[in-house]
Amino acid sequence: MIFMQSAGAGWLHEDADIMGTRISVELFHANPELARQGIDTVLREMRRIDTGMSPYIETSELARLNTSAQQQPFKTSKELFSLIRRSLEFSEMTGGAFDITFASVGFLYDYRNRIRPDETQRERAAALINYRKLVLDPHSGTIAFSGPGVHIDLGGIAKGYAVDRCISLLQELGIKQALVTAGGDSRMIGDRWGRPWSIGVRDPRNEDKLAAVIPLRDVAVSTSGDYQRYFEENGIRYHHIINPGTGDSARELQSVTIIGPDATTTDALSTSVFVMGMEPGLELINRMPDIDAILVDQKGQLHYSDNLQPAKKAGNGVKASAAPITH
Ligand code: AMP
Ligand code: MG
Repeated sequence: MIFMQSAGAGWLHEDADIMGTRISVELFHANPELARQGIDTVLREMRRIDTGMSPYIETSELARLNTSAQQQPFKTSKELFSLIRRSLEFSEMTGGAFDITFASVGFLYDYRNRIRPDETQRERAAALINYRKLVLDPHSGTIAFSGPGVHIDLGGIAKGYAVDRCISLLQELGIKQALVTAGGDSRMIGDRWGRPWSIGVRDPRNEDKLAAVIPLRDVAVSTSGDYQRYFEENGIRYHHIINPGTGDSARELQSVTIIGPDATTTDALSTSVFVMGMEPGLELINRMPDIDAILVDQKGQLHYSDNLQPAKKAGNGVKASAAPITH
């Protein structure tokens, strides 16, 4: 996603690299001290969530869960427990397209170093993926793994969750106009100088081109794409969104953008619809009254969910609808 305007006077803007991605905060408050406090609060919260939920930080709560829950139930914080429970709801809702245990295969890929499993390794590891192997006990607040080789990675939902947390903290500070972004996941409150925020969905095969522009107000928006972390080998693109059924990258679409009320939902759904592909993906979104989607297929063509059809008619695909989408 690309945000079209640059910050005006009275707005603070800061970028940082946290959670293995680019974090960006833009906000307004008439009191500059409070505005500064808003920025610091967001960066601190992003770091806190990364420290707890990164599977790569050995001391993180998630890493400890991954190493312990095989042997015995692991007592988690309320926060981690409820995010994992939320993840399982998305697994149920998407017929298993969203599955945080994809990590059994996921850790065999290293996109930067062009490393991937061979077919045998991939199939063996894919057989271990199954969110139903996570046993959550709400009474004791513990999580256990009911089989060997289970690993959790929250990469498909944690950034959206972090964005939601930051927006809540900003609202507690009395900030009413803000945009928080973590990689492909964003949420905005209020408007920008009385005008909606304008979001550009980038062309998945050309980072300087836009596939669509949409005006938004008070919503969350997430994009999942096959161009974020990938390498190519013999013309095949190996990227970071994994079909849990095969352990291979999902290849029907180039990108999925989801618009909805909160970023935890849009984050999980963008990853899910990417895996599900066009028809089942759009069908799912069209059943959800408060969710919209823009899909880019392998030919670079755009497909909109039913609620967005007016936006499509209003322009040539790149032009936005006149009225902002709001929730
Ligand atoms: P996103 O950019 O939000 O689509 O998230 C992609 C990330 O989600 C990947 O880098 C993985 O960490 C994680 N992921 C990949 N495949 C899946 C899947 N099938 N279900 C849940 N998470 C996934
Ligand atoms: Mg996602």
